[in-house]
Amino acid sequence: MSSMSRFLIIVRLILLLSLDIGAAPAPALAPVPAARTEVDPELTAGFSEGDMIISAEQRNGLRSDNYRWPNRTVYYYINNNIDQPHREQILVGLRKIEASSCLTFQEVTQDQKYYVNITSEPGGCFTAVGFQNRVQQMNLESYPLDEGCYRMGTIMHEMLHALGFYHEQSSADRDEYVRIAFENIEEGKEHNFEKFDNDKVDNFDQEYDYGSVLHYSPYGFSKNGEMTIVPFKEGAEKQMGQRLQMSQWDINKLNMMYKCPQQV
Ligand SMILES: [Zn+2]
Repeated sequence: MSSMSRFLIIVRLILLLSLDIGAAPAPALAPVPAARTEVDPELTAGFSEGDMIISAEQRNGLRSDNYRWPNRTVYYYINNNIDQPHREQILVGLRKIEASSCLTFQEVTQDQKYYVNITSEPGGCFTAVGFQNRVQQMNLESYPLDEGCYRMGTIMHEMLHALGFYHEQSSADRDEYVRIAFENIEEGKEHNFEKFDNDKVDNFDQEYDYGSVLHYSPYGFSKNGEMTIVPFKEGAEKQMGQRLQMSQWDINKLNMMYKCPQQV
């Protein structure tokens, strides 16, 4: 067989396969969850506000220096079952945080007692909030690059939780900027819209930030397709829930939280 006809057969096979994917209701070739376009994996994990593992005493924590990573150094371990492209995507996220702050990310050495253990199990994206002084999990369920837990903004969102940040819309002054539309929230999911007092959560004197990578989408936990977080500022819903990059205010807060000597 000539290489040309072999090439044509392969092209035909690829065409057939892709047609098959388009036609089949449950394609065997797509190993991603079927609901991924409808459901935000940051919201599906079932932890506090979807993706944060919080211990009781920690609710007082964010202001406390106990939850900051010592020496502005974050140790991490990326599990072996995460393939090279996904590993690189995670590392790009970490490097972006580094470039915007005085933090350093370092891969663990064998004797490291505390670090972020980056896993890729089913169950969405979730992480422990703040420094825990032990091995703490950050899970990024497997998705194609730039989707679900592997959106660049989501990787940074989860890492910002691990650094000590809560969601933007839980800040004490949020009611001046958004209305939580409880009438549109799924039954039993109301606790995800909790507001923290100022003594628990510090906004570092920065203005409420609709464009924060830590802000929910306006439709988070919606039961009817209507907005669950309605901004008072016109058009702000277009910024809310972006998962592309840290906003300038996210960067400012990170620099303040870690008392970076030179603000970026
Ligand atoms: Zn989150």
